[in-house]
Amino acid sequence: RGITRLALSPEAPAERAPVDIAGRMTLHNLLREALLTAGCNPFHLHFQPILDLPSGRVMAFEALVRWTLLDGQRVAPSDFVPVAEQSGLVPHIDRWVLMQACRAACSWPEAWAVSVNMSPATVALLDVVELVQEALAVSGLPPSRLRLEITETMQVPNPQRMSEAMQALRALGVTVALDDFGNGYASVTNLRRFPFNAVKLDRSLTAGLGTDRQALPVVRAMLDLTQALGLRAVAEGVETDGQFRLLHGLGVSRMQGFLFGHPVPEEEVVQTASEAETLLAALLRPEGAPG
Ligand code: C2E
Ligand code: MG
Ligand code: MG
Ligand code: MG
Repeated sequence: RGITRLALSPEAPAERAPVDIAGRMTLHNLLREALLTAGCNPFHLHFQPILDLPSGRVMAFEALVRWTLLDGQRVAPSDFVPVAEQSGLVPHIDRWVLMQACRAACSWPEAWAVSVNMSPATVALLDVVELVQEALAVSGLPPSRLRLEITETMQVPNPQRMSEAMQALRALGVTVALDDFGNGYASVTNLRRFPFNAVKLDRSLTAGLGTDRQALPVVRAMLDLTQALGLRAVAEGVETDGQFRLLHGLGVSRMQGFLFGHPVPEEEVVQTASEAETLLAALLRPEGAPG
């Protein structure tokens, strides 16, 4: 029923119809089963490169969770993460992803960090500092190679607790980024209220560049703000040369998006990084310079 209406491409969440109530109930039951009885077996990770323009190199890969049902159907995180957040199941996902991501990153070149998404619900329900310490200890990954991305939401369940957890994570040497900054929620408030050290500019801002006349001044103002607060910015969702050039012109030094590489399975990260770096070098080469 509801579940059959989910479209199947996890890389194109924007194109799909929202999941209806029956679909959400089905998803909730399937999620419970997957998480509590199947030991996270139905989940796996994909990784997407984040590029650092000054060095011309990949600086990190973002871990993105993938879920495959028994019949082979894939469910996109934009469909099941919100359901998991509302039903209190998301900490199970985030804990599993954190462990797997740290383990994977250990076999990568030392210059690469791994970026892990943490729902604000997880921060509210679990001791994230303890969780991170455990993941680092078990995997042997240095804290400087771990980045956490906390999604911007209107409702932060327990702001005091979140703030303290973030302080403690920073003290460990872990980077904490505000994800989806500028997606319409209380951005500025969140930035000032919590001790983030980085922000990820929401894909909707990047998407507007080149099509929406107001996008450029809005992005410029947001960059000024992040800079004034001493935060590093990563632009998400960079898909075209045009967006790359506009963002580069605005001084954005870190980018992520389909232009450089889609999320890929662990076996393909090395190849993906090398392709992304080759493309970046070509984009940064002065016009007319030989390849
Ligand atoms: P996010 O953290 O903002 O991740 C970026 C999303 O944008 C990913 O979608 C990625 O595949 C997609 N994307 C990257 N570059 C482009 C591009 O150039 N164009 C377009 N159109 N899309 C691009 P994905 O993997 O479907 O994940 C969606 C969201 O689900 C994530 O957004 C994040 O909020 C959440 N999520 C994913 N994994 C986890 C997880 O382990 N824990 C939690 N709590 N949330 C997760
Ligand atoms: Mg993210
Ligand atoms: Mg994001
Ligand atoms: Mg997002």
